[in-house]
Amino acid sequence: LSDRLNGILDGLKRRGALKEADVSAAMREVRVALLEADVALPVVKSFIAKVKEKAVGQTVLKSVTPGQQVIKIVHDELVAMLGTESAPVNTAGLPPVAIMMVGLQGSGKTTSTAKIAKRLTEKDSKKVLMASLDTRRPAAQEQLKVLGEQIGVKTLPIIKGQLPADIARRAMEAGRLQGFDVVMLDTAGRLHVDAALMAEVQAVRDGVQPLETLLVADSLTGQDAVNVAQEFDGQVGITGVVLTRMDGDGRGGAALSMRAVTGKPIKLIGTGEKADALEDFHPERVASRILGMGDVVSLVEKAAETIEKEDAEKMAAKMAKGTFDLDDLRTQLRQMKKLGGMKSVLGLLPGMGQMKKALSGATLDDGMFKRQEAIIDSMTPKERAKPQLLNASRKKRIAAGSGTTVPEVNKLLKMHMQMAKMMKKMSKMGKSGRMPMVPG
Ligand code: GDP
Ligand code: MG
Repeated sequence: LSDRLNGILDGLKRRGALKEADVSAAMREVRVALLEADVALPVVKSFIAKVKEKAVGQTVLKSVTPGQQVIKIVHDELVAMLGTESAPVNTAGLPPVAIMMVGLQGSGKTTSTAKIAKRLTEKDSKKVLMASLDTRRPAAQEQLKVLGEQIGVKTLPIIKGQLPADIARRAMEAGRLQGFDVVMLDTAGRLHVDAALMAEVQAVRDGVQPLETLLVADSLTGQDAVNVAQEFDGQVGITGVVLTRMDGDGRGGAALSMRAVTGKPIKLIGTGEKADALEDFHPERVASRILGMGDVVSLVEKAAETIEKEDAEKMAAKMAKGTFDLDDLRTQLRQMKKLGGMKSVLGLLPGMGQMKKALSGATLDDGMFKRQEAIIDSMTPKERAKPQLLNASRKKRIAAGSGTTVPEVNKLLKMHMQMAKMMKKMSKMGKSGRMPMVPG
């Protein structure tokens, strides 16, 4: 597959404008990547069509290769489709406002209910009441109660034998009487979408008129995501999506499918079992992730060809020897900066995942590269070659010299260590390993 792709990109390189046949060929590879990311087939098709339309006939900019340009178009379109506007949970209404959580069993509704309640309580200073309408699963109501106690959010007292719609009305009544701002309704789910589930959720909806109806969906749901989103949106009407288990090794294709089918924003993502493992949705990150594991990575590797060949060869030799010092890191940082405009694509480059981890959540932006470069620039050649020389006083000097802080210096050193380790591993794997920034 990769060889084929390389051929296609070489072909693209020689021309001044993106031609239909070339774009089509590249799109075949993108299609594979999307399907591997578990994006639903109809969504893949419409996406490819859109990108093709945009790409064909575009003049290739002087400063980038056609390959880069195709990737940029693919990436930008992916981000646009995922939704560029931020979409916070809406609580603006006459209190108490109802937020109803719907979705299949095990998708993470109860967990997400608690996470959102905690966030609204702590960040937005809202007074939140949670109520479990799950009368189906044994101990489901107690599960929410326990979570409430853990996070310090009130739950509606449990009365057995009530119907979900009645519990919901009782929750709203309690919310009104006790001055709550928000009432979160955690509904029951099923293994599959069925009529009884929909009827139950509709009854709750009609009784309380929720301001938000959030579909909670497991990001590991593959081709079925479209179906689930369509059913819930069509029959209940959703206002947004909470995508859970984004901490797993799923590729997040479900995000694109759900968004494409419903047009509703992905509002939040769940990234763990704990109550604070809830994050805002960043379309760039998810776009990179969706593209990240297919052959599109090769496309981006090709894009990295703008780097000078000698640099690449030097790097390859270093890798073969298993040495990778801070001078090499600086070269890499410069190369990354060169890719400019495509910074969000950087996550796709092999090794960058590692780097992101090392930076623990820091955003990859040009400013950061500049600071990192400044840190390395402030070292002596000896220090760059032998980072182990860097004791506390040297670090202090470097931080002062580069206008940064010692923790930042430490972070960079940690990142370097992890990259060096990874490169050693890759050089051991030999040619089969994907080498960052090394063409061909
Ligand atoms: P419900 O049936 O939809 O209410 O699902 P639950 O909220 O009970 O969650 C089912 C399981 O998924 C529980 O073990 C949760 O801890 C777990 N879970 C929920 N959200 C996440 C998440 O974002 N990441 C991970 N790793 N686990 C999650
Ligand atoms: Mg539940």
